[in-house]
Amino acid sequence: MIHPDTELRHVSPTIGHGVFATAAIPLGTIVYAFDQFEVCVAPAVYAMLDDRHLAVLDWFGYIDQHGTRILSWDHAKYVNHRCDCNTMSTGWGFEIAIRDIAAGEEITDEYGLLNIPEERPLSCGCPTCRHVLRPDDLDRYGRVWDLKVRRALTRLRDVSQPLEDLLDPATRLDLHGHLDGARPYRPVAALRCRRHDPGRPRPRRRGPAAGEVAA
Ligand SMILES: [Zn+2]
Repeated sequence: MIHPDTELRHVSPTIGHGVFATAAIPLGTIVYAFDQFEVCVAPAVYAMLDDRHLAVLDWFGYIDQHGTRILSWDHAKYVNHRCDCNTMSTGWGFEIAIRDIAAGEEITDEYGLLNIPEERPLSCGCPTCRHVLRPDDLDRYGRVWDLKVRRALTRLRDVSQPLEDLLDPATRLDLHGHLDGARPYRPVAALRCRRHDPGRPRPRRRGPAAGEVAA
C-alpha cells in the first residue's frame, strides 16, 4: 500500500503515469508497505503464466528476497525510478522517504533494490543518471543507499506514520530494536534475491508503457 497522501497522475506519453504527493511527506515517512492485498506470485506460478499476465508482472511487479514477484493492488506499482529518487526500500522491505517530499512532487524510487532481473535503459534525466539499470546495482551502490536509509530512519519516530501498522510484528520488533540500539541495522543487501528463476523468455515490448522505468 502506498502512502495515503499520494495520487496517480499522467506524466507524459513517453513516461506514462507516475505517483505524486498530495501533501508534504517528510523525511523518515514510510511511503510503501507490503499489505495483505498485494498479489504474490511464487516462481513456480510465474513459470506457468501466459504472456499477457507475464507482461504485466514483469513491468509493474518487483521481486522480493525470496524470489516472489509482487504486484501492488494500488497505485504503488506506478512509482517511477529516478537515480536521485526521494524514496528507497529499506532492508526491512518497506520504503521510506529519504528526503522531504513537497506536495505536488513526484514520488520516485530506486529500482536497483527491486531485483530487476535484466538490464533496462534509463532516461530519468537526473543529473547523476546511471543511464542503465543493472541487476548488480545493489552491489555497486548498496553502501551509499544504506547511508541514505539510515539517515531517514533516524526520523522515523518523529513523523506521522500512517502505514506503520501494516508492518508485521516481527519486522516492527526488529526495526524498533534497531532504533533503540538493541538490534543491528538491516542493510539493503537483505533485499537481494539470489534465486532468479529464469522462467520463460520474456515478451519483447514494442514501446514505452505506463510505469516504465522513468522512461
Ligand atoms: Zn537516472
